[in-house]
Amino acid sequence: MSNSAMVRALKNWGFIKSKEVEEAMLTINRALFTDRPFDDAPQPIGCGQTISAPSVVALMLELLEVKKGMKVLEIGTGSGYNAALLGVLVGERGKVISIEYFEELAKKAEVKIKALGMKNVKIIAGDGSKGYEKEAPYDRIIVTAAMPSLSKEHPLIKQLKEGGRLVAPVGDKYLQYIVVYDKKSDEFRRSIPVLFVPLLGEKGFSK
Ligand code: SAH
Repeated sequence: MSNSAMVRALKNWGFIKSKEVEEAMLTINRALFTDRPFDDAPQPIGCGQTISAPSVVALMLELLEVKKGMKVLEIGTGSGYNAALLGVLVGERGKVISIEYFEELAKKAEVKIKALGMKNVKIIAGDGSKGYEKEAPYDRIIVTAAMPSLSKEHPLIKQLKEGGRLVAPVGDKYLQYIVVYDKKSDEFRRSIPVLFVPLLGEKGFSK
């Protein structure tokens, strides 16, 4: 399998719907980020963490509807694969801030992003469970670790721009649903059931 064959399959299965997500997934070779890049299953990336299956990555990016020039916050950099895709989606005028809990993973991801020559993606090591106030507000926020809860009072919701959107897995440790929140309508919408590694830190799951 090749990266382009993976993209073709994701398109045939209906996970990739838009030209934008297709272009991003063709531009960034997933083989740079994991040893078994084209299996449609989560893969270990170190520190007990996993990179999501390509189908889940595509589905979440389609729900996020990122446009050129936007400012996007990602919680859970992991391998840096999704951050690189976001970098393509926002384009040179846009900006991606991605927060990773484990410094070791953040450093590895940063090396890869640098090697790709992406200047619009900034990786920060730290606890992103309360978002990242310093660069707020954001057009889009994507969380790639399971959140125990998400209410309208959550700091991540407060860090969204008017008209902003947040996509995150929300639930208990063993089952979550992808939730889409739109700031304009102030509504939550539920997508597919998923299983993500737990969000750590202050607003994450207690150990
Ligand atoms: N998007 C990633 C996969 C994410 S896996 C990729 O493309 O590879 C989830 C990641 O969230 C893990 O790396 C985990 O360490 C990180 N994480 C968990 N809790 C976090 C927190 N509070 N702040 C920032 N990152 C967190």
